[in-house]
Amino acid sequence: MAEKPGRTPSDVLREILADWPKKSDSVDMDAFKLRLAPYLAAGFNSSGFSNRPFGEFSILSNELVVGDTAKILVYDSADPQYPNLAVLSLSHGKWYLKKFLFQCASCFGTGVLGTDPCDTCGATGWGLINWSRHETDL
Ligand SMILES: [Zn+2]
Repeated sequence: MAEKPGRTPSDVLREILADWPKKSDSVDMDAFKLRLAPYLAAGFNSSGFSNRPFGEFSILSNELVVGDTAKILVYDSADPQYPNLAVLSLSHGKWYLKKFLFQCASCFGTGVLGTDPCDTCGATGWGLINWSRHETDL
């Protein structure tokens, strides 16, 4: 029988976001990364740290769990029309943040530009292709 994780992906994400800096904060990013390190999945792309809110980040969606991956939408209280996507992965019974991506501003999350795959986000609808180039498992 599989062991059930004690805390849900939303629990873990809520703790992470409580510490997340705002756009206006001047933060020591190295200290921030160090503090968050226990929450991060191996291979977390630190470009995700530059995704910061004008207001406050809050979780407004249910969590979608597929296998060992959970996806949750996060909204900026000052910019609520554009969701961000948090991807968490399960490892040894605990959830870790794997990615934190803003919605693609070119295709608005559809992954499609006209009749082509969106080349800004790599047709994923999230983040920038340069950030997630090596992570095509969205
Ligand atoms: Zn796009």
